[in-house]
Amino acid sequence: MKLTHIEHIGIAVKNLDESIRFYEDVLGLACYAVEEVKDQKVKTAFFKLGDTKIELLESTDPGGPIGKFIEKKGEGVHHLAFAVDGIEKALVTLQEKGIQLVDQQPRKGAEGLDIAFLHPKSTGGVLTELCEDKNKS
Ligand code: ZN
Repeated sequence: MKLTHIEHIGIAVKNLDESIRFYEDVLGLACYAVEEVKDQKVKTAFFKLGDTKIELLESTDPGGPIGKFIEKKGEGVHHLAFAVDGIEKALVTLQEKGIQLVDQQPRKGAEGLDIAFLHPKSTGGVLTELCEDKNKS
């Protein structure tokens, strides 16, 4: 399996607009995209820093994954996403190694990336995402 870089860090927030202001006005990053991912019941905002992005996630439904996360743990780091070459193959390899997958097959995430989540039970408590940008290659 070949990871190339940290693609993004996903952060669960209660209020996207307020959080965007922190990243823009305090940290000096520029939000370059806001996108709703209906499938995941979230609205996302993206910032870029080097090869890595910050993905802010606001829930659009209290019963969605981010809504539930915030209810349990409050705002904060939600997941870590690695860019990988060959996501399908990587999932097969991980399964062979006994890693519990949330997604057996890649699906479409924000920005048109192919993504898949690994279960935090198998990753030391960190919800881990793999992504591949097939538009690039
Ligand atoms: Zn993500």
